[in-house]
Amino acid sequence: MYTFDYQRPGQADAAVAALTANGDAKFLAGGQSLLPTMRLRLAQPAALIDVTRIASMKEIRVSGDTVTIGGAVCHALVAANADVKKALPGLADLAGRIGDRQVRERGTIGGSLANDDPAACYPSAVLALNATVITDRRRIAADDFFVGMYETALEPDELITAVEFPLAERAGYEKFRNPASHFALVGVFVAKRGSGADGVRVAVTGAASSVFRAKELEAALSKDFSVASARSVTVSPDNLNEDMHASAIYRAHLIPVLAGRAIERANAF
Ligand SMILES: Cc1cc2nc3c(=O)[nH]c(=O)nc-3n(C[C@H](O)[C@H](O)[C@H](O)COP(=O)(O)OP(=O)(O)OC[C@H]3O[C@@H](n4cnc5c(N)ncnc54)[C@H](O)[C@@H]3O)c2cc1C
Repeated sequence: MYTFDYQRPGQADAAVAALTANGDAKFLAGGQSLLPTMRLRLAQPAALIDVTRIASMKEIRVSGDTVTIGGAVCHALVAANADVKKALPGLADLAGRIGDRQVRERGTIGGSLANDDPAACYPSAVLALNATVITDRRRIAADDFFVGMYETALEPDELITAVEFPLAERAGYEKFRNPASHFALVGVFVAKRGSGADGVRVAVTGAASSVFRAKELEAALSKDFSVASARSVTVSPDNLNEDMHASAIYRAHLIPVLAGRAIERANAF
């Protein structure tokens, strides 16, 4: 490591002001992605602005037809929260299967979304559930948030303060996990929110450079929200990742299989 300044403000606006004042500074949440990057010298921020003591970013609220998770809430707390488990069990289930116990105690939803790892789990829930990312200055619809590999619509000094998820009739996630990290080789989140346009949304992570909606699965599941319907869909391997872990053809094969398993999980809650 090398020397850097460290600040731990108690308010979101103070965190943004500290980041702006320090020029080459970064927000620090759970540190699960940022600190390894710093150890490898891939990032060398002059200052870290720790956002994990900002009380308003640590709240979980279930009210009306939304679940709101504060930007600095760790995965373990989402997984264990009784209200989230009741209102949106698919989301709690996803959080409870991120990484290992230590990662879940430290990693946060805001850090995960800002980092936008192409194999991360939360982006698929945000996109499939049509969530809204709330920042210190605006609300960003899920469809506009994920821009590309490790790239989001966030400005460099923009702080994710919360994420607002609408409830769903049924929602579930399944991943084919990397056995070492538990990141998704492919992960699929399915959400059924109604029968109209956008009533069923399916988001895929791990398979391409960024999370994406699987429109062919959405079309099939809008007509028939069943395992058989998911399995009947053929996904093209074009533009899917090809690496030492899996070929594009294998990833394409996994997408409808995992969509079917995600429906099974959703039906079991
Ligand atoms: C061994 C291991 C296994 C993992 N397995 C999985 C897995 O199975 N599934 C999965 O989804 N993830 C997995 N992760 C990722 C982990 O869950 C974290 O979500 C992720 O590393 C980032 O969250 P963090 O809170 O640690 O962010 P940090 O590392 O602190 O920050 C990451 C980036 O986000 C920025 N940032 C942080 N908070 C905010 C905010 N509120 N607003 C704006 N910018 C912000 C930081 O400046 C930094 O650029 C794994 C990580 C490790 C180390």
